[in-house]
Amino acid sequence: MFCGQKMNNTAIISVIVPAYNEALVIDEFHQRLSAVMQATAYDYEVIYIDDGSTDETLAKLNQLRDQDPHISIVDLSRNFGKEIAMSAGLDHCIGDAVVVIDADLQDPPELIHEFITEWQNGYDVVYAQRLRREGESWFKKKSADYFYKLLWKLSHVDIPKNTGDFRLLSRRAVDALKTLNEYHRYMKGLFAWIGFPQKAVLYNREPRASGTTKWSYWRLWNLAIEGITSFSDLPLKISTYLGIITASGAFIYGSYMLLRTLVFDNPVPGYPSLVVIILFLGGIQLICLGVIGEYLGRTYNESKRRSLYFTKGFHPSLAYQDKQPKAPKQE
Ligand code: UDP
Ligand code: MG
Repeated sequence: MFCGQKMNNTAIISVIVPAYNEALVIDEFHQRLSAVMQATAYDYEVIYIDDGSTDETLAKLNQLRDQDPHISIVDLSRNFGKEIAMSAGLDHCIGDAVVVIDADLQDPPELIHEFITEWQNGYDVVYAQRLRREGESWFKKKSADYFYKLLWKLSHVDIPKNTGDFRLLSRRAVDALKTLNEYHRYMKGLFAWIGFPQKAVLYNREPRASGTTKWSYWRLWNLAIEGITSFSDLPLKISTYLGIITASGAFIYGSYMLLRTLVFDNPVPGYPSLVVIILFLGGIQLICLGVIGEYLGRTYNESKRRSLYFTKGFHPSLAYQDKQPKAPKQE
């Protein structure tokens, strides 16, 4: 029996922390998180997923684990990205409730108390909703705003605005998520898609404590495309309608040209309009092909049915080693 383990309450809370090159903040993060978790009425484990870090993150995590029996480490074989790192965490956790949190202290661990209260009130998914964003550029705020609006319009899934991955999931929500094996995982969408009673907890998002964000605009753009293509086939329909509209336009214009030639003869003008029309139609066709390509590429990736990730190692928390019988699927 380790000190700090709570005897009178058997429920366990798992905290999943994807970490990619977070050596600079991980110690401070763990201190703050541990203070919060020790103050709850529940036992807890903290699962760090080292997502192929190239800095000292894994060494730091191993040091922490030597001192703290609550820590599990999932060591991924390379960098798979946060979405898959989170899934690896979900596969390896044992908790009755599971909290997903970033390692960079942008998600205040103190909010977990409120998550737990709402979980006790019967909510299955308790997510943190940002009131305002600190330390992010005007462009990032605006583009995020528009993206959420667009996604809301396009998809039939109610993805809450200004919400990251920081949240608590009940065991049945985690089990539901684990049955979704798609390769293209837009987790925010999947969290909403599974349904169950959901509840927002409002908070102010802090700027990163240290280090830099791994989300370049290019990665954000790709995440946006992922979100849209995972939850909506409207772009495919739009390309169909674009095709119909341009074809109708071409038909009308063609009829007009035919009539004009019949009535007024053909003085062969219109080279500029010809070029404009060809370029316009060529452009529309390429865009539509691109849209189809986005979906086709995803269908191709899904059809390969590859494993989501591989682990170099899984080091379960010493406190709950006996509770780890559920073999994670990749091992
Ligand atoms: N992260 C990860 N793999 C990646 C990129 C990020 O596990 O490929 C982790 C990172 O260590 C952090 C969390 O995901 O704990 C959020 O990353 P970041 O702070 O860069 O994103 P932002 O807060 O800007 O959305
Ligand atoms: Mg961050």
